[in-house]
Amino acid sequence: MQTAYIPVPQTTRNRAAPAWTPDDILALYAMPFMDLMHRAQQVHRAHFDPNAVQLSSLLSIKTGGCPEDCAYCPQSSHYDTGLDADKLMPLDEVVAAAKAAQAGGAQRFCMGAAWRSPKPHHLEAVARMVSAVKSLGLETCVTLGMLRDGQAEQLKDAGLDYYNHNLDTSPEFYGKIISTRTYQDRLDTLARVREAGISVCCGGIVGMGESRRERAGLIAQLANMEPYPESVPINNLVQVEGTPLAKVEPLDPFEFVRTIAVARITMPRAAVRLSAGRETMDDAMQALCFMAGANSMFYGDALLTTANPQMQADQRLLQRLGMHVEPAPHHAAPEFSGAGHAAQPQAGSGQPCAEGGTTCR
Ligand code: SF4
Repeated sequence: MQTAYIPVPQTTRNRAAPAWTPDDILALYAMPFMDLMHRAQQVHRAHFDPNAVQLSSLLSIKTGGCPEDCAYCPQSSHYDTGLDADKLMPLDEVVAAAKAAQAGGAQRFCMGAAWRSPKPHHLEAVARMVSAVKSLGLETCVTLGMLRDGQAEQLKDAGLDYYNHNLDTSPEFYGKIISTRTYQDRLDTLARVREAGISVCCGGIVGMGESRRERAGLIAQLANMEPYPESVPINNLVQVEGTPLAKVEPLDPFEFVRTIAVARITMPRAAVRLSAGRETMDDAMQALCFMAGANSMFYGDALLTTANPQMQADQRLLQRLGMHVEPAPHHAAPEFSGAGHAAQPQAGSGQPCAEGGTTCR
């Protein structure tokens, strides 16, 4: 069955560059693994330092109780996953977490809220958080759900650099995952973000039971945006008891690596981010993902300001691979000496999030 495209709004449609059809992308997926890796490396090296990685840290500023029904998400109020809903975090706690993330080496601080769409008073509070985090010298990113007219501009005025809003999957598979908002709703929010001059972070989740063609359909949607997203988080499903996807067949790890490679080839200048699911990958698998063109990762999901063994394990991995952190816009890259950092956020149990494209808690 041919993958049908959802019409993309004018501002996100690629008219100049050749469109990637799902069949083009399926042909990439079908390449022998070593050939695909070689091609992805060639593209990667033409546009990036292959030994550099960008680090983002994520904080859930409002957890749980979400009215959306994303089938993978423990934060949805439709499913009983034992997660308690929290209110929006206070500003001082957000700033403390951002400082801890920065001390640990993060360059970008992402704040995620489990909302369908932010209410005006929510947006005002988040705008204050954005300004405060930005003033530390960190890049800022938020994921707050669907945006209405004027809301992206409000965030831009507060200093927002990136807005995350994932497509999640292909148009064909989407109806099996979410019923409370449409694919077009997502594209409309992305168009508002672009029009406000905010960089776009947009990717999806694989391993939700979709076919390879449906994975190719997701990549085609992303790659055919004009311009394509600056950041493309690729999440591997984290199965959560109580959600409809708790028992889905796990994706072959090589298929995940292929997805990274295909994203790199079709979106050569994007930061392709290892996101949810990374915590279950061993070091060899993560190294393969870097070889396939991943050059960004979520690092030490920030929830509390206590020591984070995962963060230190990440630092050791980068050291073992001879990789370094891409310098942040206003900061030199931190040196990973192996010694503990002053204050580090604590790892959360990451779950893929449509909004965070990253992790929900
Ligand atoms: S993925 Fe995001 S929008 Fe969907 S239920 Fe979870 S928090 Fe809500």
